[in-house]
Amino acid sequence: MNDEKVIAYIKKCLESGRMGEAIESAMLTGVTLSKEELKNYIYKYLDNGWMSRAIEGGKAAGIELEKDILIDYLNRYLSNGKIYSAIEASRIIGMPLPRERIINIGSECFKKGKLTAGLEAFRLVGVSPDEEELIVCGNLCFKEGHLSSGLEAYRLANRTPPEEELIACGDRCLNTGHITPGLEAYKLANKTPARELLRVCGELCLLEKRTDDARKAFVAAQKIDIIIKVARIEIREISLVELRDSKDIDESWRRFRPGECLDCKSDNGFNERFFLLSRTPETKEEKEWLDKTMESQYGVMHFAVGVFGDERGLADSAICKNCGSSNVGFVIQAC
Ligand SMILES: [Zn+2]
Repeated sequence: MNDEKVIAYIKKCLESGRMGEAIESAMLTGVTLSKEELKNYIYKYLDNGWMSRAIEGGKAAGIELEKDILIDYLNRYLSNGKIYSAIEASRIIGMPLPRERIINIGSECFKKGKLTAGLEAFRLVGVSPDEEELIVCGNLCFKEGHLSSGLEAYRLANRTPPEEELIACGDRCLNTGHITPGLEAYKLANKTPARELLRVCGELCLLEKRTDDARKAFVAAQKIDIIIKVARIEIREISLVELRDSKDIDESWRRFRPGECLDCKSDNGFNERFFLLSRTPETKEEKEWLDKTMESQYGVMHFAVGVFGDERGLADSAICKNCGSSNVGFVIQAC
């Protein structure tokens, strides 16, 4: 290591509160650290809420911290709502924390959207937090895009998170390049994020070189493209009479017929239902969508789609008159 690197290393140790390590390295490499400099760092640790690091550093540097100073800092931690620092300080000094103040700190944490710290404060005094305070906290967490904290706050308050808050959270996550909680929030709200938003998220992930996240965002955007395209297929049930009389439909539909029942092999007639499709499905996704939609909207599990001269299609479902099965094979009769 050259001098510059040594000094940078020592500085890094000092910045992160590892004063003992810094002093040792300085001694080994002949770098001088003034007592004044070390003292400044120790007070910086105290300001940061790192009381144990300040005390350890003080021991290594031969700088004693008086109890009065530590108590003063403990009080500052309490006033600033630094609950973890206050807990540590109270343990080090051997001074119990005032109960009322802890409860107040917990409430203050909730008002700032700091769920974990707030819960820690309430846990410390063995009091259950107020449900309304939890909801306020959950709402803030959602606004800031902290999905899991928001959900946890609502769970603890025994409430279901409102849809608009979930969406606000999802938007915040996606706008800051956090695809996983963003998608999760939308899923919980039973909504789909805007395609543009997903693309923005993907771009952000790419900028930060998180390629897996970027891929996830772009795939989600692509899925929306498919949904939009699929949704443009309109399905309309049409009676046999209407079908025969319609001039809009190509003559060729007559050649498209149920052939035989695939369960009982009967070809003794079928009860048919016809569905006019605004266009025939093209992709695997569109075919899957049609299968699902026919089943959920019309209760039709098996059907065949005839392809006509124009882009429209006719879905034909048949039920075997012999055994009632809808598992029927279709044929196109020769002219
Ligand atoms: Zn049959």
